[in-house]
Amino acid sequence: MARYSPSVQNLISKLGSLPGIGGKSAQRLAFHILSMSDEDANSLAEAIKDAHKLTVRCSSCQNFTDSDPCPICSDPLRDKSTVCVVESPRDVSTFERMHEYKGLYHVLHGVYNPVSGKSMNDITLSQLFDRLSRHPEIKEVIMATNQTAEGNATALYVSRLLSPSGIKVTRLASGLPMGSDIEFTDDLTLASALKGRVNITT
Ligand SMILES: [Zn+2]
Repeated sequence: MARYSPSVQNLISKLGSLPGIGGKSAQRLAFHILSMSDEDANSLAEAIKDAHKLTVRCSSCQNFTDSDPCPICSDPLRDKSTVCVVESPRDVSTFERMHEYKGLYHVLHGVYNPVSGKSMNDITLSQLFDRLSRHPEIKEVIMATNQTAEGNATALYVSRLLSPSGIKVTRLASGLPMGSDIEFTDDLTLASALKGRVNITT
């Protein structure tokens, strides 16, 4: 016999499928939602629906946006000669919060990870290479993937493929500890890692 009614059980299992939400948290969230007013519960559901419906990937940088191209790609004041390649939209926010970087971005939406079955084809590398071939004004690609084995492998792969193109491929300086996520790096450390970026030698 099910512990909860089918609709509640369904809500718990949907919430439990979100990253970082275990069974206990899913139950806690579900009962919190059930205790909300109809109006609040509806506005939560609408917010999810609207964000999903209105958000697209920017055709240039692949970041999530309401307008294509996104505000960063369409900003005339950004330096169009530099593209910072990151794993997730959250990393773009981290860089933007720092106010040090004036170039453009490219969001991979993942990283090469053979353990989780993510191959180079599952991330937006082909869009990156296509973008580089269409925009010769891009002179430098900064590989700002996380300092993990997968992040490093992805950076090395990109630099190998780009080496005949003459585009400079750099990596954030080693001030970032191994295994660290860009997302959780403080602004000062990230700014100095950006300033001290080094050429990737292949
Ligand atoms: Zn964009």
